[in-house]
Amino acid sequence: MASNKKEIVFEGLGVSPGIAVGPAHLNESGAPTVHEYKIRKSDIDAQKARFKQAVDRSGRQLRRLRDRARATHGASGEDLGNLLDAYLQMLTGSRLVRGVERRIAESRINAEAAVQAEISEIAHHFTELPDPYMAARADDVREAGARLIRNLTKTPFRAFSTLPQGSIVLAEEFSPADAALMDPRQVAGFATVLGGPEGHTAIMARSLGIPAVLGATGLTMGARGAETVIVDGSGGKVVVNPTANTLRAYEKRRAALRRERRRFARLRDLPAITRDDTEIQLSANVELPLETALATRHGAAGIGLLRSEFMFMNRESPPDENEQFEKLREMVSSMNGRPVTIRTLDVGGEKLAYSLGEQIGEAVNPALGLRAIRFSLKHPRILEDQIAAILRVGAIGPVRILLPMIATTGEVRQVREVITTVARRLKRRRIPIADPIPPVGIMIEIPGAALAADALARVSDFFAIGTNDLTMYTLAIDRADEQVAHLYNPLHPAVLRLIQFTAEAALRARIPFSICGEIAGDPRFTALLLGLGVRDLSMAAGSLPRVKQRIRKLDLTAATVRAQAIMEQGDSGRIATLLDDFNTLA
Ligand code: PEP
Ligand code: MG
Repeated sequence: MASNKKEIVFEGLGVSPGIAVGPAHLNESGAPTVHEYKIRKSDIDAQKARFKQAVDRSGRQLRRLRDRARATHGASGEDLGNLLDAYLQMLTGSRLVRGVERRIAESRINAEAAVQAEISEIAHHFTELPDPYMAARADDVREAGARLIRNLTKTPFRAFSTLPQGSIVLAEEFSPADAALMDPRQVAGFATVLGGPEGHTAIMARSLGIPAVLGATGLTMGARGAETVIVDGSGGKVVVNPTANTLRAYEKRRAALRRERRRFARLRDLPAITRDDTEIQLSANVELPLETALATRHGAAGIGLLRSEFMFMNRESPPDENEQFEKLREMVSSMNGRPVTIRTLDVGGEKLAYSLGEQIGEAVNPALGLRAIRFSLKHPRILEDQIAAILRVGAIGPVRILLPMIATTGEVRQVREVITTVARRLKRRRIPIADPIPPVGIMIEIPGAALAADALARVSDFFAIGTNDLTMYTLAIDRADEQVAHLYNPLHPAVLRLIQFTAEAALRARIPFSICGEIAGDPRFTALLLGLGVRDLSMAAGSLPRVKQRIRKLDLTAATVRAQAIMEQGDSGRIATLLDDFNTLA
């Protein structure tokens, strides 16, 4: 598999550990085949509007890629930025745009056919020019046109099923819904130019156990014509056309990882108990049905967070009550009596579900818009169907209901009313449901909710602290934006205080609480979280063995003393040192 082509290494964010080696598949390169058809006069405006949307979308993509390129140092970043700028200029008020609009109106053809015809003409014109620099611009025109056509013919769902087994997929960006379609047998690893470490695409990769690197600047352009690719999800590197030496070095590392996995398997049936005998509850976060098997394999005590979004992804319309019930039934049954915490729909933000596209709309600021429980309360039918499915599945195994993005006690009360109404309706129809009604808990992931935790505890049966969003909203750092990934820091004293405050409020109210953000699955944070009083952690199933291993080596008394020392610090650098020192010693 070693290549004669030059080896190129791209640095990015290693978001899902492991090493994958395989044939490269560059997603979305080139333009898809275009079919030309005639349109009616009355359709001209609609085709122009489609074209305008594609121009806007292409502009947004190119601006993000350009800013990303410029943010990396050195001449190559600048060169790439300039090239992307040139593509951008072609899209704004240029001959291309005017030409396409004219063709739609005069030739009465669909927008993608008009783009293709216009591109061919402009590119031909450039190649005729005597200046070799200008002649080379023909490729840029084709490139800009291909992007427009891709955005015009955008099929809502990407198919990875046709790829050869073990492929490595490279793309500008993958949405969480795209990642949900990846079968780990088909896709051995993936890498993208855009995306942050705590976004849902990264979370999905970790859940599926697919090694992934995001935020690798210049990747899609640099990897054109690539044959073999290595995705090093642990080290945050993508190696295109690796040499025989590089391949050998990575093979050694893969063998070491396989040995580690075998060691971890032996931990499965051992309790998660500290050296001074405190048992910690370790559960799994699950985004897709296939993960329940993994959760069981790694000895999870239950599912601490079932993200129900998967049921709404990659389809034309939302699932009804029965379909949701069937999907949940399979998952709850497969957990054999272990508790399953089902979170109601958390769409919005970066988690756009195509099936709800129209209802979500374009938010001014998606992270602060109609997300999660706000969406559900605005669309009672969708909430009612979901609550009904959860109540019904509660007759099959123990479940809890978890509400995302709660900010106020009023929101919890409103959902409780919906639960009562739906339960009554199901009982009237003699449909079996959970009896008693399952506990209703809330995510604490908005800083305001953490600060109001005492009041929220009065209307909630449990708390699940979502440190991914809590960190994002507290520090005003987008968790899915690779450009600010270096500033995303759950060890910021403000985030830690909010966790501590929430934990204390839950203890005062005597309600259970857990952490289900990504830090729960990172052994670096285990001592600190346990030291702050946390006894319940929920994480990607693949992280369970590592965290369990850490707990079994930990002295809780020492961890508590260290957590107190950490909470007296105001500087995140100092906090990190205190924590890392403790981790190396104890
Ligand atoms: C969180 O925000 O920490 C969380 C667990 O929820 P999600 O990652 O699904 O937003
Ligand atoms: Mg969240």
